[in-house]
Amino acid sequence: MSVQDETRVVEAVQTGLFVGGEWRQATGGRTIDVDDPSTEQVLASVADATVEDGRAALDAAVAAQAGWAATPPRDRGEILRRAFEEVVRRKDDLALLMTLEMGKPVAESLAEITYGAEFLRWFSEESVRIAGRWSTSPNGATRLMTTKQPVGPCLMITPWNFPLAMGTRKIGPAIAAGCTMVVKPASQTPLTMLALAQILAECGLPDGVLNVVTTSSTGEVMEPLIRDPRLRKLTFTGSTPVGRRLVEQSAQGLLRVSMELGGNAPFLVFADADLDKAVDGAMLAKMRNLGEACTAANRFIVHESVAEEFGARLAERMAALTIGRGTDEGVQVGPLVDAKQRDKVAELVQDAVDHGGTVVTGGRTTGERGYFYEPTVLTGVPTQARVFGEEIFGPVAPITTFAADDEAIRLANDTEYGLVAYLFTENLSRALTTAEALETGMVGVNQGVVSNPAAPFGGVKASGFGREGGVEGIEEYLETKYVGIAL
Ligand code: NAP
Repeated sequence: MSVQDETRVVEAVQTGLFVGGEWRQATGGRTIDVDDPSTEQVLASVADATVEDGRAALDAAVAAQAGWAATPPRDRGEILRRAFEEVVRRKDDLALLMTLEMGKPVAESLAEITYGAEFLRWFSEESVRIAGRWSTSPNGATRLMTTKQPVGPCLMITPWNFPLAMGTRKIGPAIAAGCTMVVKPASQTPLTMLALAQILAECGLPDGVLNVVTTSSTGEVMEPLIRDPRLRKLTFTGSTPVGRRLVEQSAQGLLRVSMELGGNAPFLVFADADLDKAVDGAMLAKMRNLGEACTAANRFIVHESVAEEFGARLAERMAALTIGRGTDEGVQVGPLVDAKQRDKVAELVQDAVDHGGTVVTGGRTTGERGYFYEPTVLTGVPTQARVFGEEIFGPVAPITTFAADDEAIRLANDTEYGLVAYLFTENLSRALTTAEALETGMVGVNQGVVSNPAAPFGGVKASGFGREGGVEGIEEYLETKYVGIAL
C-alpha cells in the first residue's frame, strides 16, 4: 500500500457527527484525534460530541421511527443488499482504513470486511421473513393473532476490536426490523463506522434512520440517552464492567437490552485429539485479530499426555509469525490497539512468570514505535495466575494440563465468563457430552472459529445476554404483539 493510498482513504471519510442525514461539527467544535497504533501518529480528527449533540442524534432517530417502521420490508432489505454490495466493492479501501486505525494486518481487515458485510446480506434476506402466528384459543371461542413490530429507537455502542462487524451485527437487524438508531463507535476506531454510515446513506437509507455520534465524554453523553424515555433499546458490545454499568442505567427505562461482553475462552485438547487440527485451531482461536477478540482462546487446557508436543508445536508456529505494520506485505501480527492494551498484556505475562510459568517463546514488547508485543506461549502456569482469570486481549497462549475429563470441564467452567469454548477430540461422544457440560453460549468442536452470520452469537454468565446473527438476531429488534379476536 502506498502513502498516497493511505492519505486518500483517510481523507475520504466524513469526520463529523452524522445526524438526521447531515454531517455536522460538534457543538463548540471540539475534535478527538484518531491514532495509527503502529506509528503512534495522528491519522485524523473526528467530532467530539457534547450531551446536546447526543440528544440531537436521538431526536433525529425518534423523528424517523414511524416512517421507517412503515417502510415496506422489501425496501428495507434492498437498502441492506445494496450496502452489502457496496461494502464488498470498496473492500480494499475499507480494509486499509481499518488497518490504519486499528492495527491488524490488511489480510485480517479484509476478512473482517467480508464477515461484517455478510450481516448486511443476511439481514437483507431476513427483512422479508418477519412473521407472526395465527391460532385458535383452547376453548375455540377466539382467534389469537401475533404479529412482530420494531422495538423502536435503539442505542448501539460498539468496541474497537472489530470496527465494522460489531456495528453491522446490530445495524443490519435493526434496519431489517424497522428500527432507527444512534450508533456510538469506539473512540480509537471511529473511521470505519463513519465510512459505513456514508455507504448506507448513499444506498438510500432515509435521513435519521442511522445517526452516528463520536465522543470522548462517553459516559456523560451516553447516560442521558439511555435514561431518555424515548429510547426503547440498548445494545452494547464491550467490556463486562462497562456492560454492568449500562444495564443499571437501562433499568429505569426498562429498556430491551442486549449485552455482548467479555470472554475467557477455554481451549480443550483431549488425549485423542488430532494434534494437527488442534494446533491449526489454536493458531486461529488465539491469533485471529491478534488475540484482541472476545472469542480469543484465553486458557489452553491440554491433556497431560499431549501437552508437551502441543505446546512445542504451537510455540514453533507462534515464533514463525512476522510482526510489523499491518499495511506492509507479508505481516501477520500488527500492533495492539494502544499503549494501555500492550502494557496490560506485558503485566499479565510478568504475573504468570512470577507465579512460576515458563516463557517458551515471545514474552516481550518489540519495535521502536507502535504498540507491538511478541506472540507468546507460556507453560507451567498455575491457574491462580491472572492470565487465567482475566481477558488477555493479546497474542499470549498460557497452557495448563489436566488428567481426567471432568477436571478439564471443571477448569473450563471455573470463570465468571461464558462466551465460547473450543474442544478438540476425535471421539464424538466425548465432544457432545463436553459441549453440553460447558457453561458457554457457543462451542467450537475441532475448529478455532465459531463466528458465522447465520449462527446465533452470544454468551451466558458475565459474557452477557442476547444473540447476534442467525434467525435469532432480528428478534432482538422486534416486539411481539398479540391481538385477541372474538368470533
Ligand atoms: P469498552 O471499554 O467496554 O468500550 C466499548 C464501548 O463502550 C466503546 O464504544 C466505549 O467508548 C464505550 N464506553 C466506555 N465507557 C462507557 C460508558 N461509561 N458509557 C457508555 N459507553 C461507554 O470495551 P473495549 O475495550 O472497547 O472492547 C473490548 C471489550 O469488548 C472486551 O471485553 C471484549 O471481550 C468485548 N467484546 C465482546 C464481544 C462480544 O460479542 N461478546 C465482541 C467484541 C468485543 P469509548 O471508546 O469512547 O471509551
